[in-house]
Amino acid sequence: MATPTSSYGRIYNFSAGPAVLPVPVLEQARDEMLNWQGSGMSVMEMSHRGACFESIIQQAEADLRALAKIPANYKVLFLQGGAHLQFSMVPMNFIPAGGSADYLLTGSWGRTAFKEAGKFGHARAAYTGEKDNFNAIPDKTQYELDPKAAYVHYTSNETIHGVEWTTVPVPPEGVPLICDTSSDMFSGPMDITPYSLIYAGAQKNLGPAGVLLAIIRDDMLARVPPGLPLMLDYKLMAENKSLYNTPPCYAVYVVGLVLKWLISIGGLEAIAKHNEAKAAVIYKAIDESGGYYRGHAHADSRSKMNITFRLGSEDLEKKFVKEATAAGLDGLKGHRSVGGLRASMYNAQSLEAAEALVQFMKDFQAKNG
Ligand code: PMP
Repeated sequence: MATPTSSYGRIYNFSAGPAVLPVPVLEQARDEMLNWQGSGMSVMEMSHRGACFESIIQQAEADLRALAKIPANYKVLFLQGGAHLQFSMVPMNFIPAGGSADYLLTGSWGRTAFKEAGKFGHARAAYTGEKDNFNAIPDKTQYELDPKAAYVHYTSNETIHGVEWTTVPVPPEGVPLICDTSSDMFSGPMDITPYSLIYAGAQKNLGPAGVLLAIIRDDMLARVPPGLPLMLDYKLMAENKSLYNTPPCYAVYVVGLVLKWLISIGGLEAIAKHNEAKAAVIYKAIDESGGYYRGHAHADSRSKMNITFRLGSEDLEKKFVKEATAAGLDGLKGHRSVGGLRASMYNAQSLEAAEALVQFMKDFQAKNG
């Protein structure tokens, strides 16, 4: 599972997304670049209506269904416009006239989704952790959900703040649960059945930028109102099996390769163990630094995907980023709204990268402590 950093001159890439991809996936894409499996064409050159591409998208869907045990009453959609377009599509499709939707805000992405929903209907922040700069996930005593809500929306992992839900919020009886899982989808086993809709841009755990995965329960499609713009209508996308218009063919192909890679290394249980091990070594280094490194998230809300931490001063943080980059550890600068550092540890990130970061942290502290 380790990404051999010595080959190809690759560095340790901690980018929050687009992010590191498995080397075997990149190698296969390279090998098939000019002639995909004897077709005489690159995947970039083939018609999305032809048999070759149809087999690629169907295989990707079949692998996703098997990997994540997706029940038959859910559709798998490959869409465009990233998670941002979902922020608009969700309320356009699912807040009926006069209705209201509940949003649980545990970071910047949930807040953006909430603000966007307010353009299309009534959206209510049932919880917001803004006053503490989104450093924790609430427990169920900290929010009350509206039993008449059109849906409840939350963000399973907040990429910027580095907080991640470890349990699934329970909506009132009959209220659909919708989740933006852009930065932790399939980082471990996931029960789809509590959800009416989950979505994720591929560019963190699942592939390159340009394609978004949406998994939607059939009964939601009946709620889609008539008259929506073509490309913003989940029902139309589902009826056409994501091929209403030209899909992002190459990105779908690479997602398919990543899914095959996930299956080959033992599936979602195996990747969960891998992700836990990587996160554990970095959080341990933070906790054992005697306060030199300070995690942003409360211990019980820590993300396994995006590890956010601070040093004693902004000058030291700048120095850390500069020297880390020079040492081949790239992409560690935190988002400006949290400051400090962020190490993104998606599925394809190696344990070797986590260990290299920890060694760098120790050396930096010894020199600058
Ligand atoms: N939600 C989450 C949790 C994210 O991490 C991101 C991207 N970093 C987005 C939404 C926005 O995604 P996109 O850029 O694909 O629209």
